[in-house]
Amino acid sequence: MRLVLVGPPGAGKGTQAALLAEHFAIPHISTGDIFRANLKSGTELGLQAKSYMDKGDLVPDSVTNAMVKDRLTHIDTATGFLLDGFPRNVGQAEVLRAFLGERQIPLDAVVEFAIDNNEVIKRLSSRRTCRGCGKIYAGESVKCDACGGELYQRDDDREEVIARRLEVYSEQTAPIVNFYRTEGLLITLPAIGEISTITASVVRALSQKVS
Ligand code: AMP
Repeated sequence: MRLVLVGPPGAGKGTQAALLAEHFAIPHISTGDIFRANLKSGTELGLQAKSYMDKGDLVPDSVTNAMVKDRLTHIDTATGFLLDGFPRNVGQAEVLRAFLGERQIPLDAVVEFAIDNNEVIKRLSSRRTCRGCGKIYAGESVKCDACGGELYQRDDDREEVIARRLEVYSEQTAPIVNFYRTEGLLITLPAIGEISTITASVVRALSQKVS
């Protein structure tokens, strides 16, 4: 199974990606997580990405595309993969299509999580992330129940950055929805409701589409 998840920040892509990757036994490739891991360990890539991430802007395509292409050559992607947060503009979608086309391993589906901006702002401003394992929490929790790590508010989940991220999503990322609709790959589902219900609806929609 080769999948892409699309949706505005706060749509629950990260949470669903982890569950779906486990369900299909495929690697979860989150470009945001890769950038954050590089930032944490102080690599050149992390330094390059930081100023863009802090502002809510996209890291330049040259950096991001090279990073994703490299990740997709790792052996664990041989049985499939789930991309979370990539592509984020039409240029990246075209690069991905060409890269997979050359290897004759086209995408099976692209799942779009639909949610309105007010809900996104509410979710992101109360979102906390585990410093240890990256698990995402809504609101009240102080400690990660998976690894005991400390929870923190991502710098880019601050209100002023959220507004910019939503703008970037509607201007640059939303057009890829049409790109994938035209390719016949798009599945759109509401991102509201119980986490497990949403996962089940994605799995059901995928089994109807990819059979
Ligand atoms: P995320 O964790 O997916 O919300 O990503 C956090 C930040 O990482 C984004 O706001 C961007 O600055 C950067 N980023 C993640 N994925 C991409 C991408 N595909 N292209 C450019 N920048 C990205």
